[in-house]
Amino acid sequence: MSSITSLVRPNIAALAPYSTARDEYDGPLGIFLDANESPYNNGYNRYPDPHQAALKAKIAPLKGIGPENLFLGNGSDEAIDLVFRIFCTPGKDNAVIMAPSYGMYGVAAAMNDIAVKSVRLEEDFSLDAEALLGACDAFTKVIFLCSPNNPSGNAFPKEQLLDICNRFAGIVVVDEAYIDFSDKGTLVQEAVERENLIVLQTLSKARAMAGLRIGMAISSKEIIGLMSMVKYPYNLSRAAMEKAFDILEKPIAKEVETIIGERKRLSAALAGYPFVLKVFPSDANFILARVTDADGLYDYLLKEGIIVRNRTRVAGCEGCLRFTVGLPAENDALLNALNLYAQ
Ligand SMILES: *Cc1c(COP(=O)(O)O)cnc(C)c1O
Repeated sequence: MSSITSLVRPNIAALAPYSTARDEYDGPLGIFLDANESPYNNGYNRYPDPHQAALKAKIAPLKGIGPENLFLGNGSDEAIDLVFRIFCTPGKDNAVIMAPSYGMYGVAAAMNDIAVKSVRLEEDFSLDAEALLGACDAFTKVIFLCSPNNPSGNAFPKEQLLDICNRFAGIVVVDEAYIDFSDKGTLVQEAVERENLIVLQTLSKARAMAGLRIGMAISSKEIIGLMSMVKYPYNLSRAAMEKAFDILEKPIAKEVETIIGERKRLSAALAGYPFVLKVFPSDANFILARVTDADGLYDYLLKEGIIVRNRTRVAGCEGCLRFTVGLPAENDALLNALNLYAQ
């Protein structure tokens, strides 16, 4: 029995998962009279593969891992929810998160009746590992880290994230939704090798498939086994899997390079405006900037037909707007609007 087993909620450890018709027989050909499907073929009359074997066989090599180390979910949001459901007992356990960070950790915790302790990042959004570990108590089962972090944009040093893993006896989740835009390096290999590390990635950002809703968790075979057992059997649709399979054929290196170049151009341009107080360094496909009047600038841009994210009411992000890097022409439109605002 490994140490992970002792972290799993007792009811989950005792779970006998639902066995689908396609679990019991998934041979290639035959007359399928087992799943109460319609026999009339329109391309989607059959249930999808609950094990997602084809898509996992496509994605795992791209990540340099085996399919047994890969969980696919209905967006990263499903993986976040499953972490709470597998490791945290409602009304008893808690999770430690950093703030400001991605809002879904707190929402998923609240939906599962799990208390959250937020640890503020420093003024420059760097991470105080001592403060984070100091916030953990005997009921802290999970620490959620996000690197590169949303909404601040910065990635944390790999050594610091691994140090937190080494010193925490529970589960550490590192959300790498924006990792393709960062040169700080992924923790994918470490997640496969270690017992208590889960890396989250997604097809929603650099892979340009937000509409398909496919998120990933990468971890030890044991943790991936638990996630696969607790998920809804048919959590990814046949349509989403087929479409993702096709789109993954196309490399994204050029687009990512363009976005990184545009990020640099936008960051430099933003820093030149008198109403911009601070442009935070970004390892992601967005830029957080502190301005003199966040609400005023947000409303002005909206009137110009440009929608950015107003983060001024997020603790630690007072006065800040978040700009997603768009196409070069879209970024030009943003800068043109800002030029007029500056006058
Ligand atoms: C956008 C984003 C995700 C992706 O979520 P999906 O549900 O996979 O679309 C995950 N984590 C963070 C921090 C994000 O900003």
